[in-house]
Formats: sequence, C-alpha cells, structure tokens
Amino acid sequence: MTEQPARKDRPRGDPATEPLGARDASRPPLQIDFAKRRRLLESLGGNRASYCYQCGACVGDCPSARFYPEFNPREIMLTALLGDLDSLLAEDGIIWKCSNCYNCYERCPQDVRPVEVIVALKNLASRDGAAPESVRGTYEMIRRTGRSAPVLDSLNKRRERMGLPPLNAIDLEELDRLLEPAPKEEPSAGDAPTRNQE
Ligand code: SF4
Ligand code: SF4
Repeated sequence: MTEQPARKDRPRGDPATEPLGARDASRPPLQIDFAKRRRLLESLGGNRASYCYQCGACVGDCPSARFYPEFNPREIMLTALLGDLDSLLAEDGIIWKCSNCYNCYERCPQDVRPVEVIVALKNLASRDGAAPESVRGTYEMIRRTGRSAPVLDSLNKRRERMGLPPLNAIDLEELDRLLEPAPKEEPSAGDAPTRNQE
C-alpha cells in the first residue's frame, strides 16, 4: 500500500484534507432561499433538520443510495436546508427513490432524522400536485377502496382454503374524513428562528 504524506503536508485542494464545504473562489456564493426553507421547517414542526452537519453517516447504510448512484440523503439534506426545494419537489424528484427504511434515522449522530425530512418533502410535493403518477394512483386506490391493491375473489378463496376469515369491510366514510386535505398553508415571509421541538 502506498504511504500517504502526513495530513499537514498534503497540498491545498487535496480532497482528503480540504475542509468539507471548502469551495472554489471562482464559483458564486451559496444562496439560501429562506422562504422555501421555512416552508419545509414549518411542515416538519421544528428546527431539528438544521442541525445536520453533513457528516454523511446517513449515506453509509442507505439501501436506495446503494441501488441509485444519484441518490444521496446527505445531499438531499443540504439541498433542502439551502431552500432549493424546486428540484426536490419536481414530479420526478430524487426524494421518491427513498424507501422509508429508517436506517438513516438510526445512523444520524445529530438525531436529524433525514427520513422525516424526506417524508415532509414528499408531503409538500403531494400537496403541490407533483407526486409521481404511481403514487397518485395508489392514493386514488386507497381513497376508493380503502386498500392499496385490489382484493380479487381469488384472494378471498385462497384465504378460505387457508382457514383465514374474509378481509374486513372498510368504512369508506370514515376514511374520507381521515383523508380530508389539510388546510392551505399561509405564505411565509422569512426564516424566523424556531426552537428545536423535542
Ligand atoms: S442527516 Fe445526520 S447523518 Fe446525514 S449528513 Fe446530516 S448529520 Fe450526518
Ligand atoms: S429512509 Fe430513505 S434515505 Fe433513509 S436510509 Fe432508508 S432509503 Fe435511505
């Protein structure tokens, strides 16, 4: 194995020594869209997400990152905290590749709960009418039947053969009440500081 020079002797610009976030001076400064960032934090009900310090621990055990090279929960956190929500909330946005497995919830040393940020982003996208067609289809199926997949006669016959009772009927009126859309959000002017709500 080639021996690496001591950390202090490595040249500037070496990715192994350059501090995280060090930027090429010729690139424009980072901009934060505070109104959009506030929209996300309000939807999360607190400021916990702001404690992300970009360590990347959430990426290490993420199954979606393993299958989709372009999926990276650390980058999603950074993009979200910069308030750059437009790309995340697009119909084909990267957030929909998250499988909601909660591994990142367990791994994050800051208790930032990246999966909850991604779920909040999915909810905002749905509210904006920008959920992918497959998700909208599943939602419509649940709304119409109370189930995420059709229950065919063959399924009930198989249950009978296995000695299982038929599936319970679903109270669709109650479901309708549960699925009533949330009240419209008020537009936000800025990113007022909020306390981390435990
Ligand atoms: S969300 Fe947590 S684990 Fe992921 S980069 Fe931020 S601090 Fe690290
Ligand atoms: S919940 Fe989503 S982002 Fe978190 S580890 Fe699982 S797939 Fe990755």
